[in-house]
Amino acid sequence: MKTKIVLLGPPGAGKGTQAEILCDRLGFVSLSTGDMLREAVRNGTELGKKAKEYMDAGGLVPNDVIIGMMKEKIDGLDGAFLLDGFPRTIEQADALGEIIDVDMALNIDVPDEILVQRLTQRRSCPDCKAVYNLSNKPPKKEGICDKCGAQLYQRDDDKEETVKNRLDVYRKNTFPLIDYYQKKGKLVTVKGDEGSIEDIFKKIEGIVKN
Ligand code: AMP
Repeated sequence: MKTKIVLLGPPGAGKGTQAEILCDRLGFVSLSTGDMLREAVRNGTELGKKAKEYMDAGGLVPNDVIIGMMKEKIDGLDGAFLLDGFPRTIEQADALGEIIDVDMALNIDVPDEILVQRLTQRRSCPDCKAVYNLSNKPPKKEGICDKCGAQLYQRDDDKEETVKNRLDVYRKNTFPLIDYYQKKGKLVTVKGDEGSIEDIFKKIEGIVKN
């Protein structure tokens, strides 16, 4: 089984959704840089203060801030894990390569026109970090997290004006990682817009267990 996995793919591809299922069913631990940063912003920490303006604009938080934060977290890991939202630049990928040798970069591929719709319809749980979509994965009770009962919210950067910038930033800075991991023989791509969330998970499960 692959146990050290990087999740690649544009914002809205389903990385968080699939990470949640991999954690629930296969015992992975997921480290999401976006969740960590949003938590830091909510708690008003130094890190949160540094990150907020970049996040609000849909840009990337500087590499040194992110790499410092992740080095600490990855060092403390034990067992199977997923990195969701990291690395996002070649510099971050090189820094990661100095800490661990990943087993696989799993790229979830979804066309742009679907991403905008998915991101603007996304609703998130501030507490347990579960993600929902108003059209294809609504919560059982409107506005309430199925898992922990917290009030769901729309991330500021999921509003339409910021989404476009996030997709541009992805194309420019993160898309080159597909080639980067391909050259290392670590890349596997799954289509993230064909079939249900469960169908996509089954494909991923087959790849992870192989
Ligand atoms: P996400 O939840 O992965 O969509 O991340 C939300 C926002 O957090 C991004 O738009 C960036 O501003 C910031 N962020 C998350 N991960 C990284 C990263 N690896 N490098 C730089 N910025 C990041």
